[in-house]
Amino acid sequence: MRIVALAGGIGGARFLRGLKAAVPQGTEITVIGNTGDDIHLFGLKVCPDLDTVMYTLGGGINEEQGWGRTGETWSAKEELAAYGVEPSWFGLGDRDLATHLVRTQMLGAGYPLSAVTEALCARWQPGVRLLPMSDDRIETHVAIDDPDSPGARKAVHFQEYWVRLRAGVPAHAVVPVGADEAAPAPGVLEAIGEADVVLFPPSNPVVSIGTILAVPGIREAIADRGAPVVGLSPIVGGAPVRGMADRMLAAVGVETSAAAVATHYGAGLLDGWLVDTVDEAAVPEVEKVGIRCRAVPLMMSDADAAARMAREALALAGEIQ
Ligand code: GDP
Ligand code: CA
Repeated sequence: MRIVALAGGIGGARFLRGLKAAVPQGTEITVIGNTGDDIHLFGLKVCPDLDTVMYTLGGGINEEQGWGRTGETWSAKEELAAYGVEPSWFGLGDRDLATHLVRTQMLGAGYPLSAVTEALCARWQPGVRLLPMSDDRIETHVAIDDPDSPGARKAVHFQEYWVRLRAGVPAHAVVPVGADEAAPAPGVLEAIGEADVVLFPPSNPVVSIGTILAVPGIREAIADRGAPVVGLSPIVGGAPVRGMADRMLAAVGVETSAAAVATHYGAGLLDGWLVDTVDEAAVPEVEKVGIRCRAVPLMMSDADAAARMAREALALAGEIQ
């Protein structure tokens, strides 16, 4: 069996760890990772979501935090702060820095991000084929009120909105800058074209899955493939399980509910949708728009829970086939 999964950072990575445990040996999993969160810091190219997937599946993730490396130290960050250089709000750990150094060096030598990601994965052996959604530069920007100019708006990088501002001010728009002129990375459309199942993990529907779907050709390839497309809700009981996804949904005019996220993806894309048992009442609402829906436990409290979710997703896909 060939599975394609789209993935952001923490929600995607934790689900993928469960998926790996749930599938029979010989199953090929291709992960299309979000690169809209990517940022250039101190001359380095940082790809937070790709790294979260790579570290989580490769056994190097800081479990409590959900991102970054185990046993991390922060000397470089402290030294940079001592020079007073900005940004000081982004967590660049010493161990993590090595990844960004290797990536930046390879990109500088002319390798595309997809080849660089493959090289980094040679160390981490994530057990899946991890592809960036695109080799082209795409950066998600968020429109907020300009604090320096009443009535005006300004755009900030997604990381500034998320990490520095903690999504604490209203977002008026979310734009994946560069997406409209980007192309899917090598292998992305091919993997979708050969997929038996396409999965949307419980990743952020706007700035993770939404950004991937904004790369021209990816949404169409998924819709045209005809293989079952099954998603899992990142919204449980009307709230994101962690993080501030409600802020991003509000920015695109979508209610923070499991049913509204399914409708946002739409029946043209999604064949099946899993909601948490607390959202059982959403099942008929989702089925009404033509998406098959089941209520099952969706809290990834540990790897086993994530594996059970993956089995439920594959079972639902099996019903659709
Ligand atoms: P990010 O890039 O690190 O923000 O990670 P993702 O986009 O992959 O996933 C973020 C989403 O994961 C958030 O919107 C959360 O609601 C969701 N999430 C995190 N943990 C869980 C969980 O245990 N269950 C479910 N259903 N969703 C989760
Ligand atoms: Ca992310």
